[in-house]
Amino acid sequence: MKRILVAGGAGFLGSNLCKKLVECGDYVICFDNLYTGRRKNIRCLLKEENFEFIEGDVTKKEDLFKIKDIDQIYNAACPASPYAYQKSPTYTTKVCVIGIINLLELALKNDATILQFSTSEVYGDPCVHPQIETYKGNVNPIGVRSCYDEGKRVAESLMFDYNREFNAKIKIIRIFNTYGINMDINDGRVVSNFIVEALLNKNITIFGDGKQTRSFCYVSDLIDGIICMMNSDANFYGPVNLGNPGEFTMLELAEKVIKLTNSKSKIIYRELPGDDPAKRKPDISLAKEKLNWEPVIDLDEGLKISIEYFKNELVDRKI
Ligand code: UDP
Repeated sequence: MKRILVAGGAGFLGSNLCKKLVECGDYVICFDNLYTGRRKNIRCLLKEENFEFIEGDVTKKEDLFKIKDIDQIYNAACPASPYAYQKSPTYTTKVCVIGIINLLELALKNDATILQFSTSEVYGDPCVHPQIETYKGNVNPIGVRSCYDEGKRVAESLMFDYNREFNAKIKIIRIFNTYGINMDINDGRVVSNFIVEALLNKNITIFGDGKQTRSFCYVSDLIDGIICMMNSDANFYGPVNLGNPGEFTMLELAEKVIKLTNSKSKIIYRELPGDDPAKRKPDISLAKEKLNWEPVIDLDEGLKISIEYFKNELVDRKI
């Protein structure tokens, strides 16, 4: 039985990962300060013998270094929606940078493999389409998104420097827009916003003209890819893109959500926030080749599952 630390394990992606690892029979230590993570996401896991929750912050070494005998570390600890990571941008950068330094030190101490949750945001507002891992990106270093983009870029560079200087065992994935169960109704990202607005028959707010594109991956597909990456050949560090290459405009997404929820919502438009990428789509050739992975759930199917989930979340909120 492997002992696995999931930093940020009570968040959207972290909790889905913990659930899968617990089902696989590993011993899972979920570490989270509940900044955006939620107890609710891990409630059903707390009764499992091979799961434990530790409340703590990755920027505090003393919280982390109590954890012993770990084989693998997944670092999902960071607010991920633009709304959440821009609330305290300086904290976001600290979580990215100090967090990964502490976790890399912990990995070295335990001789554990560490996998970093990086992001398509390292490509910024990309000039190359679709985005391939060798593309170095187009990031504004002083914009409202840079706390996250640059934080995640520094984390990637620290991963490789700890590998070159200290032989840390590293793996990096670049995650493209992901959605699904355990997303908070107030998450702030587009899929949850649109579904919740549609279910409540409220106006659906598109930022900008709605022609910007994103590629949406259903969460279970992503989690499978992440676990494949962790258990891949030790010499394969990545970074590797994980996402669904299906590309949609935000207007197409809004129309799909309205149709699938049978909603009376109207679409309204608001000013586009600064540095919002115009186009995004992953090239997943590397993941296919090295991990034999590709997503299997298309947008319509994933949205249907998510709509049922958000319906229940809205009922829970009323109780
Ligand atoms: N967006 C939108 N309405 C919303 C939330 C987001 O039109 O209520 C747009 C946002 O401007 C961006 C896209 O949807 O172009 C995806 O935004 P999200 O916050 O989900 O993630 P991002 O890919 O920008 O990090």
